[in-house]
Amino acid sequence: MDQAPLALSNAQAQDAASVGGMCPSQAELPDLLKGWTGPRPLRVCGGGTSSRAAAHNQWTLDLRPQLNRIAWQSSDQSVWVGGGCRMGDVLQALLPHGRSISTGLSGLPGLGYVLTGGMGPRSRALGLAIDHLLEIRGVWGNGEEFWLQRQHDGDAAEWRALCGAAPFLAVVTEVRLLTHPLIPLWVEQCRASSDALPDWMNEAEASDPSISLQWHWGDADQLDILRVYDQDPGLGGMQCIDGLHQLPALVVPRPGAQRMHFEVVGLLGPARAADWNECMPLLRDCMRRRPHPSCSLSCQQLGGATSLVPAGLTSFHHRDAVWKPWITAGWVAGDLAMRQRSLRWLEELWSVLQPLCPGVHLAQLHDHLPFHQRELEQAFGESLPGLKALKKKVDPAGNLPPL
Ligand SMILES: Cc1cc2nc3c(=O)[nH]c(=O)nc-3n(C[C@H](O)[C@H](O)[C@H](O)COP(=O)(O)OP(=O)(O)OC[C@H]3O[C@@H](n4cnc5c(N)ncnc54)[C@H](O)[C@@H]3O)c2cc1C
Repeated sequence: MDQAPLALSNAQAQDAASVGGMCPSQAELPDLLKGWTGPRPLRVCGGGTSSRAAAHNQWTLDLRPQLNRIAWQSSDQSVWVGGGCRMGDVLQALLPHGRSISTGLSGLPGLGYVLTGGMGPRSRALGLAIDHLLEIRGVWGNGEEFWLQRQHDGDAAEWRALCGAAPFLAVVTEVRLLTHPLIPLWVEQCRASSDALPDWMNEAEASDPSISLQWHWGDADQLDILRVYDQDPGLGGMQCIDGLHQLPALVVPRPGAQRMHFEVVGLLGPARAADWNECMPLLRDCMRRRPHPSCSLSCQQLGGATSLVPAGLTSFHHRDAVWKPWITAGWVAGDLAMRQRSLRWLEELWSVLQPLCPGVHLAQLHDHLPFHQRELEQAFGESLPGLKALKKKVDPAGNLPPL
């Protein structure tokens, strides 16, 4: 099997001093997992954008070199996407067919985006990425191969588990996704005072599902706003783009001299703009005490189509969620004291938001941090015991990250 030095876009994963990367093919994976006797868990790299794509003294299964097939299936306008493909590449491959998938705010993430739920500016109109899965192929942690189809297996515990909790159970080698017509989008970008946040959210909660609001609170008193419309709202100052492949960044990263490491925790909560209003003094206080300018609070809007799928059909438990705020804690690479301060700040901000957003969107694994168990409980709720039972069956040795 190929082994290659890991090149990861996540700086913390890149700097983690992992043992190395193995680049298995679909055919090599079963035996690799069945016979694995090295350090556990194995890490999996789909796109390599999260902090746990690689870890100290652990091996990473780098899916990008061998599992990178993107294949258009014209018979039902779906697309096969390999386990190591980036979402931006899928969008590009679909352009000649006039089709698209519901990607997030960046084309950089890999299949981890889909497998952990997958939400973006078109989710209110189209649903989550997992809601578009038609087939899932892969290898369970114990080395057994599987090939599930929504049509036949959509009611099975295995299907439900893979749609949202796959990283704990299996290495997904390929999925087939439903596509949608590529349509132009209208984008509004501006800066606003953070005091106006509840007003923006209030308006968004009442808006049509063809519109989505995303905001970023970085500077203490300023918000970056990105509002995306499926139809021309007939307002001035809008940018018309051909599709999600041209979506501008919510925030343009500031080039800095220092190498930064980050951890990100995603939360989920229902429509409650009025309660956000009450929370503003605490939020403002937290934002003013950010340990580093790279610490931030951002948010994307859900609801509409994401809430139409019954909670039990996938492992995305919080179907009532209308807001997904995510907290980013950043520190200068190697500065352990600042790391500690930033993570403490993250937990403090999380506790302020907890009453508004009781759920977790488990898009990044944190099995190295003290709040991993809390994240599991808040992400999967009453489905967690069932997921743990399945994990015992399909990954008894713990080849994949702990659940
Ligand atoms: C710039 C940026 C923008 C983002 N925007 C959004 C957004 O708008 N909406 C949203 O929902 N999320 C967003 N995310 C979060 C992102 O979707 C998650 O962090 C996702 O897990 C990243 O997947 P990856 O494959 O790139 O990362 P990786 O680090 O390679 O993988 C992330 C996790 O998924 C697991 N995994 C990856 N591939 C597989 C596979 N084939 N089989 C089994 N497990 C696998 C890994 O074990 C790992 O735990 C964004 C992230 C970044 C960096």
